Amino acid sequence: MNKAIAVDIGGTKISWALITDDYAILTRRQVMTPATTSDIFTALEVIITEALASYDDILGAGIGVAGMVDNAAGKIVAAPNLALAGEPLKQHLESKFKLAFNVDNDANCAVLGELLSGAGRGYRNFIGLTVGTGLGGGIVIDGRLYRGAKGAAAEFGHMVIDPNGPVCGCGHRGCLETKASGTAIERLAKETVVAKTKSALSRSVGGDPEIITGPMVAKAARAGDTEAVTIMTEVGRWLGLGIGNFINILDPEVVVVGGGVASSLDLVMDPIIESARRIVIDPRSRDIPIVISQLENSAGLLGAAGLIFGLEPS
Ligand SMILES: [Zn+2]
Repeated sequence: MNKAIAVDIGGTKISWALITDDYAILTRRQVMTPATTSDIFTALEVIITEALASYDDILGAGIGVAGMVDNAAGKIVAAPNLALAGEPLKQHLESKFKLAFNVDNDANCAVLGELLSGAGRGYRNFIGLTVGTGLGGGIVIDGRLYRGAKGAAAEFGHMVIDPNGPVCGCGHRGCLETKASGTAIERLAKETVVAKTKSALSRSVGGDPEIITGPMVAKAARAGDTEAVTIMTEVGRWLGLGIGNFINILDPEVVVVGGGVASSLDLVMDPIIESARRIVIDPRSRDIPIVISQLENSAGLLGAAGLIFGLEPS
């Protein structure tokens, strides 16, 4: 059976897996992401060497990168959280191994994973959002990933919704990502810890806003803590506002929400859906399903394998 090496390079860790052409994950590991370019290259070479030594019938390696990627050239254009900006990653790996390589943005890979073996399977037009530290996404049009003219499409998180809002990682103010992401949950939680010292959330960290994290808020919200529910609801409403806008622009059949924060968003599906529906202009689009990904943290790896199998349905 044919196999692909799938790699997902994030700001903190590199995950990789060996995946069969029917999208079964044979083995899966992760290492911490090194701080320098040469160490990242070395880590990738070790992974690929190990995979090639352990398995036969490997067709190639698909690599998702947390950054802006020129897929055609296999080059990293920008990567704020990784020492890979400007690096010709595909060219470098091709010089080391006789193997096919395909490099793409990690959110594109996650959405391709949904298209090939997740909640997007069977749909020809949908959008996928990845809600994690930031907010990314991908667009499927007519059964294929839409990358735009330069591979930079679907930067959903950087739609500016409040020009006077909080500063975003991209340098602009008020991007959707600043209101609807793990970072947004954390920012609101810090504000609550400081402003509402008697709240359970504040008491849980001894009043120290530096200690509180997004997962702590999600856990408290699940246990019914009022302040935590308020924070999750606000983030859900902003996410819904974004989704409503994307539905108006792209007319999808379904919206798939994945990423590290997605598993906590079931708590606030009602505000997400209400907020999206309120601004959808086509009455036929008001019931478009907004679903949470079931692939958890495998979507990006499955999509990276899909880059190699070339199975984007045409
Ligand atoms: Zn931004």
